[in-house]
Amino acid sequence: MGEFELIRHYFAAAACAQAADGVVLGIGDDCALLQVPAGEQLAVSTDTLVAGVHFPAGAPGELLGQRALAVAVSDLAAMGATPLAFTLALTLPEVCSAWLADFTAGLERMARQCGVRLVGGDTTRGPLSLTLTVFGRVPAGQALTRAGARPGDLLCVGGALGNAAGALSFVLGERAEQPGSAELLAHYWSPAPQLQLGQALRGLATAALDVSDGLLADCGHIARASGVALLVEQQRLPLSAALLACMGEQSARQLALGGGDDYVLAFTLPAEKLDALRAMGQPVQVIGRVEAGQGVHLLDAEGRAIEPRHSGYQHFGTHRD
Ligand code: ADP
Ligand code: MG
Repeated sequence: MGEFELIRHYFAAAACAQAADGVVLGIGDDCALLQVPAGEQLAVSTDTLVAGVHFPAGAPGELLGQRALAVAVSDLAAMGATPLAFTLALTLPEVCSAWLADFTAGLERMARQCGVRLVGGDTTRGPLSLTLTVFGRVPAGQALTRAGARPGDLLCVGGALGNAAGALSFVLGERAEQPGSAELLAHYWSPAPQLQLGQALRGLATAALDVSDGLLADCGHIARASGVALLVEQQRLPLSAALLACMGEQSARQLALGGGDDYVLAFTLPAEKLDALRAMGQPVQVIGRVEAGQGVHLLDAEGRAIEPRHSGYQHFGTHRD
């Protein structure tokens, strides 16, 4: 199967590639054309996943398709944007029709869940890698950035932490399945971008991001961009029953602080907005607060500073603040 036939068969024909609001022109021309409503801005983000680095080389196509899109769309959630479209640059070692059908099925499922359309891409031969670019729309001036946290704000997250990191040893086949492991694996392979939460946070949160590299590392981004200190209370970290069952409390906590891939939102919120957010039915867990200063500080139950063991994954070097 040649490149063009492959694109037509697997991508142009996919349900998620059909006409939709905001997509003036999809797959098949030199560019796609997107229409952003007046008064809104386009939010754009790219993510690359490389076999052997971001996922095991033999990962099932379907799981990979849904995870790759979820990871990309999560960045739109973190900005408070509504998904519009995405492009897919796919590098494949060979054309395997069963794998491509599985991959597209996973992509379709997540595209439906997130309400996002495939509008273009590129298909090349080489070691397996995926680059997804997502486009969303957000009312002008209302996107949630990392830069607005203020002393006195609460530090919050949108759900349990450490589940995806806890799944890793099961993903890699290093551990046998056990009670709770299926739930952790579901978090890893099918993260749910917190789109509704992100949109609800517009006008309420002062800063936000999605936790991809680990809570402490990602909080460091907010602290730096906002010029404040973030205090994380270890006792208040939300840990799932599955993670506690598989890892025990000590390791669960370390995974919640340093493990990546959770894709829950972390955000800062003026205390007086907390009730409004809860009244909207949004998941919100307070895990700390913002103070004047800099860096991220972990506190024990008595409010004393603790030195974290590690602060998250970085591809190039491991510096700490
Ligand atoms: P060009 O040579 O103009 O860059 P291509 O031949 O690479 O165009 O692609 C033809 C059309 O198919 C374009 O609209 C492109 O966006 C789309 N396309 C290519 N690969 C993919 C893919 N993996 N998924 C979705 N659309 C794709
Ligand atoms: Mg091309």
